[in-house]
Amino acid sequence: MYSDPSAIGSSDTTDTATQEGLIQCCVCMENRETEYYPTIPITDNCWHPNLTCLRCLEYSIASDHSSKMWDDIRCPQCAQHLSYQNVKNFADENTFAQ
Ligand SMILES: [Zn+2]
Ligand SMILES: [Zn+2]
Repeated sequence: MYSDPSAIGSSDTTDTATQEGLIQCCVCMENRETEYYPTIPITDNCWHPNLTCLRCLEYSIASDHSSKMWDDIRCPQCAQHLSYQNVKNFADENTFAQ
């Protein structure tokens, strides 16, 4: 009686086409566009594609930084140590200012 057929599917704008070009972050499992990922290797020794989005990378650095020393911050994907310069590339300004 009260069903409105025009409402069904009309607000559903999920587009399958945009799945292309998205990368799934290995940390938060979100599908994000490539611009959300680092364009350079996380550390000088990283051999893998960057599957950690910048947000997770930033978070990982911040949490490592709060519990460890500068020289024990690691890549979330391969556990290589980040150099001071690597950290500087990816950490947000607040983390770096501490
Ligand atoms: Zn992520
Ligand atoms: Zn790595």
